[in-house]
Amino acid sequence: MRVIVTRQIPERGIEVLQQAGYEVSIWPGTLPPTREELVEFAKGAVGALTLLTERIDAEVLDSLPSLKVVSNMAVGFDNIDVEACTARGVIVCITPDVLTETTADFTWALILSVARRVCEAAAAVHKGQWRTWEPLGFLGRDVAGATLGIVGLGRIGQAVARRASGFGMRIVYTDRARQPREIEEQLRATFLPLDELLTESDIVTLHVPLTPETRKLIGARELARMKPGALLINTARGAVVDTDALVAALRDRRLWGAGLDVTDPEPLPADHPLLRCPNVIVTPHIASASEVTRARMAELAAQNLVAALRGERPPRSLNWDEVHRKG
Ligand code: NAP
Repeated sequence: MRVIVTRQIPERGIEVLQQAGYEVSIWPGTLPPTREELVEFAKGAVGALTLLTERIDAEVLDSLPSLKVVSNMAVGFDNIDVEACTARGVIVCITPDVLTETTADFTWALILSVARRVCEAAAAVHKGQWRTWEPLGFLGRDVAGATLGIVGLGRIGQAVARRASGFGMRIVYTDRARQPREIEEQLRATFLPLDELLTESDIVTLHVPLTPETRKLIGARELARMKPGALLINTARGAVVDTDALVAALRDRRLWGAGLDVTDPEPLPADHPLLRCPNVIVTPHIASASEVTRARMAELAAQNLVAALRGERPPRSLNWDEVHRKG
């Protein structure tokens, strides 16, 4: 039985698939397959280990009747139409938890880099512009003692909050519902509706999944509510922010800056107006990219795929129960 992997992934993932006895076809390109290429490549395969660059929707599924499992090497699954998969009895799996700490670390890398203008200052050194110690050079914003607003206090949001305690910050958060009291107390996090969180936070960091409700959650109205000189950090999904509105807020210098690991569109073209805004750091969707974490993600995605194909409950599936209730 053949399974496909839509890009070269850490070796551990491939080993798990091969040891389970599957014929493994790996997409040879460094860029993702197009829709047509994906369908052609996946013909006859029973399982697909996919990345967030592959869109799996009803049309793709209908072209691939042999496909039984889609295992995404990501915690986000906005690239997969889960309802369409469930309707066709296709199991969908993801890789939560294994990337939480690494993604939270990177969120902090962006918070500190934007607040203290690290990339801009380092670039000046590379250009030979370091002439002396300047009393007014590269003045930034203090992180210690600031108010951190976390939008989505789930796994990653909580890991970001844990790190904030070392900076003596006040933590406010918003979510679909309040977290249990023990979590609020442990993290010293106060629930606020989004609008209030925006007016109170010096740094707003986004950790919600991309869903119809969170698409453009942060638009012109929300950016206008943010404190003058606040920072916006996004390591969730690009489309949670209205990019045009963000460009306008940065150009007007209403925001101090933005740290974006995810953008809309993605990849961001080099001539995009966002890259000409002051104090913006854009990274190419690398928040989970540590050697150990990517290996764990690949391993878990492969374990999910193997278990589901064997008819066993996978470690992390989104629709195992629904599919089996239907079946
Ligand atoms: P999670 O544990 O599910 O946390 C998401 C939180 O957002 C949950 O508390 C959820 O509430 C809340 N939420 C959902 N919809 C909301 C809404 N409309 N308004 C307010 N809050 C809402 O997920 P996670 O593991 O922390 O991951 C979060 C996201 O980060 C992923 O979905 C992914 O897109 C992104 N991510 C990006 C990278 C990267 O490389 N940049 C890496 C990892 C993850 P409920 O529990 O009630 O749904």
